[in-house]
Amino acid sequence: MTDLRALLARVADHAAAYRAGADEARVFPDAALGTARAALGGPLPDVGIPPGDVIEQLIGALEPVTVATAGPRYFGFVTGGALDSATAADVLAVGWDQLAYNHLTSPAAAIAEEVAGEWLLGVLGLPADASFGFVTGAQGANTVCLAAARHKVLADDGWDVERDGMAGAPRVRIVATEERHATIDRALRLLGFGAACLEPVATDANGALDAGALRDALTAGPHGPTVVCLQAGNVNTGACDPLGAAVAEAHEHGAWAHVDGAFGLWAGASARTRPLVDGVESADSWATDGHKWLNVPYDSGFAFCAHPDAHVAAMAYTAAYLTGTSLPEVRSPGDYVPESSRRARGVATWAALRELGRSGVADLVDRCCALAQRFASQLGDVNGITVANDVVLNQVLVRFGDDDATTDDVVTLVQRSGECWMGSTTWRGRRYMRISVSNWRTTERDVDRSVAAITRAFGESAGALRAVPAS
Ligand SMILES: *Cc1c(COP(=O)(O)O)cnc(C)c1O
Repeated sequence: MTDLRALLARVADHAAAYRAGADEARVFPDAALGTARAALGGPLPDVGIPPGDVIEQLIGALEPVTVATAGPRYFGFVTGGALDSATAADVLAVGWDQLAYNHLTSPAAAIAEEVAGEWLLGVLGLPADASFGFVTGAQGANTVCLAAARHKVLADDGWDVERDGMAGAPRVRIVATEERHATIDRALRLLGFGAACLEPVATDANGALDAGALRDALTAGPHGPTVVCLQAGNVNTGACDPLGAAVAEAHEHGAWAHVDGAFGLWAGASARTRPLVDGVESADSWATDGHKWLNVPYDSGFAFCAHPDAHVAAMAYTAAYLTGTSLPEVRSPGDYVPESSRRARGVATWAALRELGRSGVADLVDRCCALAQRFASQLGDVNGITVANDVVLNQVLVRFGDDDATTDDVVTLVQRSGECWMGSTTWRGRRYMRISVSNWRTTERDVDRSVAAITRAFGESAGALRAVPAS
């Protein structure tokens, strides 16, 4: 027998040391990827090795090519580093090896998810009687929510989409912000609508939906089953659609209103940012991520629905689950998601919420927003650097020397420096550095240090990566 206790202790020691070291380590690795591949690779040997050797080989081969997303100076992709409690809880859930399909496969997983889901509704300011599914991320959540929408708007039109499918179904209008996230389009593809059915609605200077343009689109018709896709938290600018007005508009036209709030829904958790998502609670469905602003480990997202019957009708296998068999007082997690056998995701989410408490979640959101402001004001003060968006949340778009090539050069140099990591984006035809502050570990010192690295890269950029054009 392996000494499992020693093996887990070794992994725990190692992971803890790694995470502590992430404060000072390079953020993006500079090791050769080929070396890591060679260390792991080759054909699968016939003969196995002891578990301890497996773990040593993994550490040796892969650690040099990890990205320090757990550290305080990773500002890519709106993904925050996991909280300590949530990390340990996730390890615990894996150690318990729970199957989170229903109360028979694991009462523990079912109950953790039930309680964590109710807590989430409270923290986010959503209706207490909304249903929830714990999915892999906002992609999964958007898909589940739009499946529930598809069920409801077609059922209201006399069509049973779960039985009869999409071929021959009444046409469903999908009206969405032109600045929607690409996962909305993919959800529409997966659900048989096709991405081309989408009718884009104009947005304002910061990328928030123009409610008047939505009204015009809905009034113009055609009138029939309609789903409106709104957004809290534009992935570039952080802008939130005017949700109260937009949902009211959708409902006036009999449409289902869905909100993709992968990170922006968390604005609802703080009194300071709550006005950005005023009226969000009146929507019909909401998608958000746990692995973004709640800082739980990947993969963790949540699909919420104001119409539990539609949610279950779209996801559950059989009507028998609606009535419940044994232990009917325990919610069945598998009825709200597209998977059956799944990890006990509720455990890590419960842990994060319990560690932070309501005020801690609000504080995390406020702190990240304040640090985004700090980035914007410090970078905006540097000659030749422009902050392009209205920094309403945790996202900052930065332009260097007002040209695409310089901006791309600066991003590349900063990424290579290892000091911090931020990605680049194209927004409205121009290139930007995109900074997302969403990690509980980030401090003012980390922002100042990152600003210094960015400013240094800007200074080096002119000649470092390409010839200076003759003027
Ligand atoms: C990140 C993001 C998504 C996709 O989330 P995943 O967790 O990667 O599936 C969807 N919508 C918005 C607005 C996002 O920011």
